[in-house]
Amino acid sequence: MPRYEFRCRSCGDTFEVSRPMARSSEPAVCPAGHEDTVKLLSAVAVGGTAAGPAAPAPQAGGGCCGGGCCG
Ligand SMILES: [Zn+2]
Repeated sequence: MPRYEFRCRSCGDTFEVSRPMARSSEPAVCPAGHEDTVKLLSAVAVGGTAAGPAAPAPQAGGGCCGGGCCG
């Protein structure tokens, strides 16, 4: 079960809550009982590669070699 990190804006404390991903957007209550909390994004890390297809350089038009006009 993923863990989400919350920060309480009333007392400034940070705490983690384990909950299903479907309930990740629900508000959490600080251990001290405060309800004014915000969810932090640092607890959830999604790995991935940034590799993508290499875009070919655009062909420079205007040349005559390659079009059959030079031979
Ligand atoms: Zn609090």
